[in-house]
Amino acid sequence: MAPSPRRSLVTGANRGLGLEFVRQLLARGDRVVAACRHPGRATELNHLAGEHPGRLHVLPLDVADEKSRTAFAHELPLVADGIDLLVNNAGVLHSGERWGSVTAATLEDSLRTNAVGPFLLTQVLAPQLADGGTVANLSSMMSSLGDDPDFHSPSYRISKTALNMATRMLAKALAPRGISVIALCPGWVLTDMGGSGAQISANESVAALLGVIEAASPARSGGFYDRFGAAMAW
Ligand code: NDP
Repeated sequence: MAPSPRRSLVTGANRGLGLEFVRQLLARGDRVVAACRHPGRATELNHLAGEHPGRLHVLPLDVADEKSRTAFAHELPLVADGIDLLVNNAGVLHSGERWGSVTAATLEDSLRTNAVGPFLLTQVLAPQLADGGTVANLSSMMSSLGDDPDFHSPSYRISKTALNMATRMLAKALAPRGISVIALCPGWVLTDMGGSGAQISANESVAALLGVIEAASPARSGGFYDRFGAAMAW
């Protein structure tokens, strides 16, 4: 098993699962870079940064925006001398889509945020990823082609399926450096996206996901796993 990642980067870190990743990574002793669209408004992150001076840095990043990704890649070395764990967590779900009224805007935004963003961010950060490190992409069971989907959130489903292929491509590209790239389903989680009917807390989900991330290895790279570490159907 690879040693514990100690320099971690989380996207979409200002709320939901991203914020919980930051909390738990700090609790286990990591140095953490928390990326979010509007650091000035990220009250909880800024509070955490005050509690962990020098160990938590909050940087601006819109994963869907090329200029923002490039600027972030330039800024990152100022606060971190490498990244052992990249959690591509930022994501969007446009709810309420109906057949006949799906728009290019929601489909394109979903693809840009959920698939293009994680893929190109990982590519631009590749030189700063430590050999032997891990990239974890937050996917969803809604991406699964075998799921016999109802017509629910098609833009989200399509974009997460694209993210799964991006995961396999990144796994291939980074294998020579011993970097493992995995897709993870966090379960149905109580966040703004998961809604109030969800089954588990962000705390429970992230604790389980960090166990799966710890167990990442070249042999498991390119796979899609649930929070218990079991392989999921693509
Ligand atoms: P939330 O909606 O609660 O939070 C989404 C986060 O992503 C926010 O921090 C948001 O920032 C950020 N984000 C959205 N777009 C961008 C962008 N363009 N650039 C940077 N950050 C962005 O979602 P969850 O915490 O529930 O979900 C986290 C991940 O887990 C997502 O990828 C989601 O698809 C996945 N997931 C969640 C499930 C659940 O049940 N909750 C189930 C399966 C998968 P801002 O505040 O600026 O909008």
